[in-house]
Amino acid sequence: MELKLEHVSYIYNPGTTYESKALDDVCLTIGAGEFIGMIGHTGSGKSTLVQHLNGLLLPSEGKLLADGADITAQEYPLRELRCRVGLVFQYPEYQLFESDVLKDVSFGPKNQKLPEDEVLRRARDAMRSVGLDESYEKRSPFELSGGQKRRAAIAGILAMNPEVLVLDEPTAGMDPEGRGEILRLLKKLHDERHITIVLVSHSMEDVADYADRIVVMDEGKIVWDGEPSEVFVHVRELEEIGLAAPQVSYVMAALCERGWNVDRSVTTIESAADEIAAELKRRRAAGSGAAQVE
Ligand code: ADP
Ligand code: MG
Repeated sequence: MELKLEHVSYIYNPGTTYESKALDDVCLTIGAGEFIGMIGHTGSGKSTLVQHLNGLLLPSEGKLLADGADITAQEYPLRELRCRVGLVFQYPEYQLFESDVLKDVSFGPKNQKLPEDEVLRRARDAMRSVGLDESYEKRSPFELSGGQKRRAAIAGILAMNPEVLVLDEPTAGMDPEGRGEILRLLKKLHDERHITIVLVSHSMEDVADYADRIVVMDEGKIVWDGEPSEVFVHVRELEEIGLAAPQVSYVMAALCERGWNVDRSVTTIESAADEIAAELKRRRAAGSGAAQVE
């Protein structure tokens, strides 16, 4: 499905002394099958924005269209939207509450009033896709490791068969190994099940490696929106809004600033190495002697 924000603004506590504008004239279209990384400093509006995607928050101004239909219209089936767009909150492990993992993962489809056997089939299927085998079904969610809890929480959302999966900082506070597991899982869901992924993160490395498109937020506005290579060339501007680009972007930017003829838009270490090797070769051939790294 396609989700489209048209000039969306969102104000918390309007008309009170606590009034705060968290989104300011945001326009964004999320197409079916995309893998979008959303980044921004704390307080830039990421969580507020993603809660609009399933109608949990409704715009103070502007519109949100789901497959062209205005979700604020009286007759719009918001319940259905919440199943089609699955939202995994930050620290989802705090939302695990049932006595065993299978019950927890079944909660969503059960609420959808599906037949018992379908609920069970969906829950088991979701557990399997996040790498929790049958031996976890009867275990208490509270006994699981940090990474397993996150995966159980993701399974609970997957069990509702969403077309769009939105995850608010799903790797926050995890070690690199656990982070890698979650990110590879999202990639698999995207590639194999064609689920649209919106991944909120403040780790540039996470989004650079997995997302096809990066949306950068600052002070409630979208400041960049494009392919990782288009966005990360702006390393200096990203720093100004409190973000860091992937390490490799810094190296390439520094080389360009010193007059090296390398493509600064590469985002992976492999392609950076190729670029640098090619430039070294050119410099040697030119016999300039400038090939030494200063
Ligand atoms: P991010 O997820 O990028 O950290 P948020 O969407 O949480 O950003 O916050 C955007 C702005 O909205 C911040 O200024 C924040 O203080 C404010 N805000 C967020 N949640 C609330 C709330 N429940 N009540 C009032 N203000 C809020
Ligand atoms: Mg947030």
